[in-house]
Amino acid sequence: DPHRYDLDALRSRLLDHGEDADKGEGEVDDSIPQLADADPALCAIALVLPDGTTRTSIDAQVAFSVQSAVKPFLFALALLDTDGAALDRVGIEPTGESFDAIKLESGTGRPPNPMVNAGALLTASLVRGSDTAERDARIAEGLAAFAGRDLSVDEDVAHNEHLLGDRNHALAHLMRAEGTMRVGADDAVAVYARACATLVDAETLAVMGATLACGGVNPRTGRRVVPERVARDVVSVMATCGVYDGSGRWMRAVGIPAKSSVSGAIVLAAPGRLGAAVVSPPLDAQGTSVRGRRASEALSEDLHLHSFAAR
Ligand code: GLN
Repeated sequence: DPHRYDLDALRSRLLDHGEDADKGEGEVDDSIPQLADADPALCAIALVLPDGTTRTSIDAQVAFSVQSAVKPFLFALALLDTDGAALDRVGIEPTGESFDAIKLESGTGRPPNPMVNAGALLTASLVRGSDTAERDARIAEGLAAFAGRDLSVDEDVAHNEHLLGDRNHALAHLMRAEGTMRVGADDAVAVYARACATLVDAETLAVMGATLACGGVNPRTGRRVVPERVARDVVSVMATCGVYDGSGRWMRAVGIPAKSSVSGAIVLAAPGRLGAAVVSPPLDAQGTSVRGRRASEALSEDLHLHSFAAR
């Protein structure tokens, strides 16, 4: 029963696991100084149920930048603001490649899916607004509706990711050359970097996941954020593409649609059941939080959340 599940006990088990509990057997991302400085011992788990009940472990209010866990929500906002036409502009097939691979769909020049960087650069550019400031504001407003509260942006993270995100600049220019990116390349990177720099905590990210799991209605505010069809489309693509080149392995072992990120956060959406978030910075080779994966496997097993289990 998720109402009674002991998240602090699960957290202690995760922290005790392995030889070097501090490192948790993964590597903290070092793409920008702020991410490299993340505390490897941070570990939090949060669940939000359809009745709005929220369960959290220790550390669930510690802030971190959302990074790629924002991608499902950028896709949702792009679908909402284009009335579904975003599906003509971005593919929905898994790539089997890393999150920042310099690769577009052959033939169309579209990004392969909204869960890799190319796709998120594009979906962020499709959000309503005639310039970067308007799109930034629209994304902030949309993410706040998913979260049920206003979220701030870590300006240093946004600045550094814009400055140091050479592969993102390369992807944006490549999409410009293909005619699939219709805003300026630098503007596209700026808006995406800012969205990635949005500060959340495990509890907030679980509310965001729960909003997708509840068909687009935020279970804490009762507000409809996106239509049911948009939520279903987003969760479907999380299931197939959300963990990059680890998506197949994830679906077999965990069986819950999810999105991983370089800050070590994972947002999960089990439709009709719950939203969840886990965060722990050390990452495996696919950029998935090592403890986050273990926590997700335990939640799936203990709460019977695997999508393909017969019972
Ligand atoms: N902002 C990061 C980037 O674009 C996000 C990547 C991730 O979390 N996997 O490199």
